[in-house]
Amino acid sequence: MHPSHGESGEGVPIQLALFEIFEAFSYPVPMPPSQRTTSAKATLRVGRSTIRYQVVRSPKRRRTLQITVDPSDGVIVAVPMRASWSDINSFVKQKARWILKTVGEMRKRGRRRAFVTGETLPYLGRPAKLVLEAKPVAEVSVTLEGWRFHVGVPEELRGKRRREAIVEAFKGWYTRHAYEPIANSLARWSEVMGLKAKRLLIRDQRQRWASCARDGTLRFNWRVALMEPSLIDYIVVHELAHIAVPNHSQRYWQRVARFIPDFTARRAKLRQAGHLFTM
Ligand SMILES: [Zn+2]
Repeated sequence: MHPSHGESGEGVPIQLALFEIFEAFSYPVPMPPSQRTTSAKATLRVGRSTIRYQVVRSPKRRRTLQITVDPSDGVIVAVPMRASWSDINSFVKQKARWILKTVGEMRKRGRRRAFVTGETLPYLGRPAKLVLEAKPVAEVSVTLEGWRFHVGVPEELRGKRRREAIVEAFKGWYTRHAYEPIANSLARWSEVMGLKAKRLLIRDQRQRWASCARDGTLRFNWRVALMEPSLIDYIVVHELAHIAVPNHSQRYWQRVARFIPDFTARRAKLRQAGHLFTM
């Protein structure tokens, strides 16, 4: 959980979405109609599967065709203005296996939230429904009542700015509500394992769940608060054990196994939760 200790096999698989690439297709400068980016929807049957894709014709694209699979926009095929339908179709057919595989992986990882009422976000592993309400307020507010996240959103916020403000507000909420469950687990396991952390900090780490510094300071990602208690316990025991053994040697894992006998199953579950790093 902390590559600083020479960890390699255990990192959380982070898959950032490909929207950066997609954004290259939107042009803020108005162009004459003949040169304007256009888009059209199309489908391709491959065996039992259907690929639905969007063709984006762009004057900036001279020759090459490019396929992007994006969690919120789906399959985008960027092509030059004059590309023929048969060329586009055979290109998609040629890449069909890759597209189906990528779309499947993305579904498994979870879709990017649109932050609309009815979606859910977990706290301590239990999903809570989001209830969003546009309000004449200056800032996004998040409260958990009756196991529902009530989110007040400033009326004027739209699109990307709205999304970023909501993500930021949830980050704050989770950061404030991560400390207590982690501290409770830490107190319990500290006693059982006979190991003491110097202090506990909640942080916004981009690629790790937690870390243990040489001085005994334990840092936990606020995203740990999304996890079910059994996974929080595993993360806590993992870091506490590093106070005694600062590496991932056999001796280290033996110590972890003494307290969490099914640690390999929990570790696997945690790996699958890597998609939570993109909210
Ligand atoms: Zn570790």
